[in-house]
Amino acid sequence: MELPSNAASERARMVTSQRNSIRDAFVTTREYMSNRKYAQQLFHQYELATETQKHRNLREYFGNCTRCLTIASHLQLYLQVQFEIKKEDSAHGSNCSQRHVAFCVSVFLWQAVQDDTSKHGARIAPYHPRRTAANRINRRNVKALVKETAGPGMVLRDVPEPKIRDDEVLIRVRRAGVCGTDVHIYDWDDWARGRCKPPFVVGHEFAGDVAQVGRLVTDVQEGDRVTAEGHIVDGRCLLCRTGNAHVCPYTKIIGVDRDGCFAEYIAMPATNVWHLDDSISYDVGGIHDPMGNAFHTALTADIPGATVLITGCGPIGIFAVGICRAAGASRVIASDINEKRLGLARMMGAHDAVTPGEVEAAVKAATGGLGVDVVLEMSGVPAAIHQAFALVRVGGRIQMLGIPVKPIELDLPREVIFKGLTIYGVVGRRMYETWHQMTRFLRAGEFDPTPVITHRFPMSEVDAAIAAIKSGEAGKVIFEIA
Ligand code: NAD
Ligand code: ZN
Repeated sequence: MELPSNAASERARMVTSQRNSIRDAFVTTREYMSNRKYAQQLFHQYELATETQKHRNLREYFGNCTRCLTIASHLQLYLQVQFEIKKEDSAHGSNCSQRHVAFCVSVFLWQAVQDDTSKHGARIAPYHPRRTAANRINRRNVKALVKETAGPGMVLRDVPEPKIRDDEVLIRVRRAGVCGTDVHIYDWDDWARGRCKPPFVVGHEFAGDVAQVGRLVTDVQEGDRVTAEGHIVDGRCLLCRTGNAHVCPYTKIIGVDRDGCFAEYIAMPATNVWHLDDSISYDVGGIHDPMGNAFHTALTADIPGATVLITGCGPIGIFAVGICRAAGASRVIASDINEKRLGLARMMGAHDAVTPGEVEAAVKAATGGLGVDVVLEMSGVPAAIHQAFALVRVGGRIQMLGIPVKPIELDLPREVIFKGLTIYGVVGRRMYETWHQMTRFLRAGEFDPTPVITHRFPMSEVDAAIAAIKSGEAGKVIFEIA
């Protein structure tokens, strides 16, 4: 019999909410990975069982500990079955915790197969809790910069302190970097309109101290000085499992898709937390995200001894100048239309810091007319992109980080194919290879990013901070939060 549509949607809502609360309570990526094999066995056992056996099986997996009782009651609702749990059952024993976690996973696998219309095997749907300023209750208030409505601007508001899940940590934010993405959100341009759903807390670059850790977190402690990867990936898809989590199709970004770090506190999955050495300041911790973009762009090319052209000396381009010097480039040529930024590039060690009109001559002089070995394209501006293809040597490599605002035309045979070029598209930071490289470079003292930080504001002066970025006069702009 078909259910009336409102009953069906109520049932669907209930199933989703039950599924999420079970997953919330018990299934972390780590538990999933370590119990995967066991879970798969259980899953097959479960699938093959008859209805009666299913119920008996269910009962077998639960003891009388609090976790068991909670999850059993969730499952009864979720699967719409009744089964008796013997309160005095002691057969469960010391294996209890592992078994019921594995069982939950098996239920998800089962559900995933049912959900997967393509039937290409078990794939667990990505789960990203919705954390918005609006849906938290009964928490003390903290200050945060909120994108409140679908229109220009952002405002400092009291919002409830973020609540952490068992696999998350609460971080007291001390410094946060402001970047171009925040300007897009502030201006509420086409990209922001298509991507963001107000209300939410903005900001994705930060450092601070751990204030609270979830029950399942073992390697992060209260008081730890940390920063974090702001791209939250599902950890389970093929790309994540093959070392390519930076291009996980299920990525959610803090301050874009869920609440961000322009706030006194932020909740982060423990897996995204990155510890800071004692010698690394909160200022530098707070700019690990854009610095990581520069590290990723530079260090996935062959920099030692290379001649390098960096087109675009925004904060990321200026970081890249210092990184290429530290990594042993023999010549670093940086270009920008802005004199102030060229000054910063020189300060970070560029051999030549020149305007677009002067680049060709600088490259020819430095390479005997051959062209540079590597270009790091860090402007996203079509004129600079064409210049990158023109000035890289035959057989050279172009690392593309800058994001053009609209499609651009390339003469592929002339600009790419018959030059035998290699092009690498940069997305975020490699997890967590880039982070590890960044820490080692900072630790060695070969690369100092502090000159790039030119402006500091309290969160209350968000309008001034955004104006400083738009002026083109700034290197990196940061909020001093605590
Ligand atoms: P930014 O906008 O501050 O820097 C761009 C710089 O390019 C500016 O200084 C600008 O003056 C300069 N420029 C303009 N025209 C130029 C020309 N013809 N030749 C040389 N330089 C020129 O941005 P940023 O924060 O440093 O980021 C750099 C780029 O990387 C942006 O396009 C940004 O959207 C993009 N980005 C990409 C990723 C990624 O994962 N791929 C991550 C962060 C940022
Ligand atoms: Zn993934």
